[in-house]
Amino acid sequence: MCEKAKEDGVAAMAACYQGFDPAAYLQYNYTPPRADFERQDSIVPWKLGCLHRAFTEGDVSGELLVDIGSGPTLYQVLSGCEVFNRVILTDFLEVNRQELRRWLRDEGDCGLDWTPYLQHVCKLEGRQPSEWTEKAARLRAVVSDILPVDVHRPQPLAPGALPSVGADCLVSCFCLESVSPDLAAFTRALGHIQGLLRPSGHLLLIGALGESYYFGGPGVKIPVVPLNEAEVCASLKETGFTLIRLEVYTLPQDMRVGVDDVSGVFFVKAKKE
Ligand code: SAM
Repeated sequence: MCEKAKEDGVAAMAACYQGFDPAAYLQYNYTPPRADFERQDSIVPWKLGCLHRAFTEGDVSGELLVDIGSGPTLYQVLSGCEVFNRVILTDFLEVNRQELRRWLRDEGDCGLDWTPYLQHVCKLEGRQPSEWTEKAARLRAVVSDILPVDVHRPQPLAPGALPSVGADCLVSCFCLESVSPDLAAFTRALGHIQGLLRPSGHLLLIGALGESYYFGGPGVKIPVVPLNEAEVCASLKETGFTLIRLEVYTLPQDMRVGVDDVSGVFFVKAKKE
């Protein structure tokens, strides 16, 4: 375990992330059984279902969607890319930004084949799975930037990165709790990203419940703030969000594959006050 993170807080968390291995992380979390599209109770289809519903209820749309802490993954914007004109992806690490760039530029040699994800979301949208190529083209067309981010800074993105009014919607998955040394830092980070959102803009937040560590690569054990639902709700309230919906997924025993100690996942749809 990266024990130093617990002692030195935010700076030591950043040091832990230097060992993050995008390909291994994708392998651990985004292949079966966690990404089994034949199973209703698999974690990835659950997340994709939550995001699909949130983006198709009619209240979440606009010009700009920003994903905070994208990592090497794209699943979190597969529904959102249809209802926003522009999408910005962000991550703290250059290796993750590189991985995203490789896919967006269609350069091949990607850490994961996103085709089954694209096909699954097409099905959720009532389209033919064969239309996945159009969805891939749509995503490649609307992603305008892949930017560095640090949620521990009061201004997580470089000045001028967003229009002055802010983004219309933020999505962030498994980022804040996995980069914060404690609950107070998690809440502060939530407050920082709140500042990137326009008034009345939406936040779609997915995160781990009851998790104390995860592996970001072989031997790279990263500490996580173990959250419960009440703490998530209290942090949202404290940082000026109104909760619209909280959904919880409990990990079936066979999804506990030894890459973390997560017990559940929360999905939040909230609105900036
Ligand atoms: N969003 C992806 C997902 O759903 O799988 C990746 C989540 S991964 C658990 C956490 C991500 O947070 C990593 O990609 C890491 O590089 C990023 N990260 C690390 N420190 C950060 C910081 N200070 N600010 C923002 N993101 C950070």
